[in-house]
Amino acid sequence: MTALSEPNPHRVVGPFHDGEREAQLRAGVADVALENGSRGIRDYMPDQHRAFFAMLPFMVFGGVDASGQPWATLRANTAGFVSTPDSRTLRINGGALPGDPLAGHWTSGARIGGLGIESHTRRRNRVNGVIETVDGDVVTLAVKQSFGNCAKYINGREPVFIDDAVTHATVERADTLADDDRALIARADVFFIATANLDDTAGAAGGADVSHRGGMPGFVRIDDERTLTVPDFSGNHFFNTIGNLLRDPRAGLLFVDFARGDLLYLAMRAEVIWDGPEVAQFPMAQRLVRFELTEVRRVRAALPLRWSAVDYAPQFKESSTAWRTLRVAGVHDESPSIRSFHFEPVDGRPLAPFEAGQYLPLRVTMPGSDKPLMRTYTLSAAHDAAHPARYKISVKRDGAVSRWLHEHASTGSLIDTLAPRGSFKLDTRSPRAIVLAAAGIGITPMLAMLDAAQALEPERRIHLFHATRGEHERPFAAALRDIERARERVGAPVR
Ligand SMILES: Cc1cc2nc3c(=O)[nH]c(=O)nc-3n(C[C@H](O)[C@H](O)[C@H](O)COP(=O)(O)OP(=O)(O)OC[C@H]3O[C@@H](n4cnc5c(N)ncnc54)[C@H](O)[C@@H]3O)c2cc1C
Repeated sequence: MTALSEPNPHRVVGPFHDGEREAQLRAGVADVALENGSRGIRDYMPDQHRAFFAMLPFMVFGGVDASGQPWATLRANTAGFVSTPDSRTLRINGGALPGDPLAGHWTSGARIGGLGIESHTRRRNRVNGVIETVDGDVVTLAVKQSFGNCAKYINGREPVFIDDAVTHATVERADTLADDDRALIARADVFFIATANLDDTAGAAGGADVSHRGGMPGFVRIDDERTLTVPDFSGNHFFNTIGNLLRDPRAGLLFVDFARGDLLYLAMRAEVIWDGPEVAQFPMAQRLVRFELTEVRRVRAALPLRWSAVDYAPQFKESSTAWRTLRVAGVHDESPSIRSFHFEPVDGRPLAPFEAGQYLPLRVTMPGSDKPLMRTYTLSAAHDAAHPARYKISVKRDGAVSRWLHEHASTGSLIDTLAPRGSFKLDTRSPRAIVLAAAGIGITPMLAMLDAAQALEPERRIHLFHATRGEHERPFAAALRDIERARERVGAPVR
């Protein structure tokens, strides 16, 4: 007897191909994606989009080269270089920039994804289609899918087209990230990503796609000279990028050096990390995408544009500079002079995640003063997936604020805090032994790091040195002994 075959739950439905459906189902948003996608994804450009594209001095495109490798690229020219003879045709009158990896691959029948973005007004619209004609620098695209994207996560920056800017562009290729590339990625607050699903089964829902990714500088984590890890924030639930990656893991990333006009093109292979403790290390991340490098192309002085200073997106500004009141959920003494405080939210919103080693800024207003004093205290326990609604700090009674906390902060007290921050973090990607050295209360970041190492890498060796005034004032001795015993059991003791 043969079993009846199940209908494929990831088949093409509405405007989505099976990879997109798979990602939507995995994220639990398939119904809302289908409802929004069926309404919002059209096969023609509305007038508003047509007027928008005509104002842009640059547009981002995604396509594939002869090997099928996707690349994200830019075309730039004076405003009006993109036009729409009718609602189903996009006309691009601007040739490839020097070093464009898609130069020569824009031929009749090629599938292209387009993204028009005006970051200073945070508007962006997408248009995907097939190249109909190429006549010198003029390309016409038959539109297959057109839709708008929301303003979220777009850091504002206004471009101006400079006619004669590109005179000395140079192109280099490599297979690892150089120091300059890493510096550019480390300060990047935006990149573009091209992906494609060109499988016949994807039908009209397939093709090439290009998408914007924004964050605060540092949101792209450089793991080593070939690996990047990037948070995926809550978006429109369409999963165009991740859906493509589930069918073809190749991606093209594009980083722009806004000061120098350099472009850094990266050919990558991507893996989606759907959940697990690593996700909690990235503020606001719903999941992560890890990229392994296959090729670097850097083009210096490629862009004929100059840019205004950045104005960070409200989503990032809120999380990094907005004061948020937390309630003291518990207090206990670690030693005669050190007291730990647990905090929990009062507004029902989740606490911002943090990485082991980071600190919590807080402010208190002393009696008799109207000016608050701001101090920073390390989060002395790692982000705990089981208790994500708690922060812990451990404070040595010392001066004004620490004494106030000891004497006045008790369960129920309300304290203003900023989102956790700081660059002193545990390198969870290195295979080498961890060496931690601290004196007195300076052990607080190491406590969080020990905690994180327990969860993330129980087999890595750890050497901990802790100097104290004497055994009677050795804080956290019991907690350290517990960690030591737990690690001895897995053969990776703390020494
Ligand atoms: C990244 C980071 C992480 C930190 N993590 C922790 C942590 O986990 N735990 C922790 O306890 N602290 C931590 N600190 C230190 C903390 O931020 C405060 O600096 C500390 O609590 C002192 O602030 P205060 O207001 O209590 O002291 P303040 O009033 O600012 O006094 C600072 C120092 O001056 C001394 N002082 C003040 N007035 C006088 C005076 N008239 N004469 C002589 N000396 C004086 C005080 O005794 C104290 O030693 C951290 C600091 C940083 C930068």
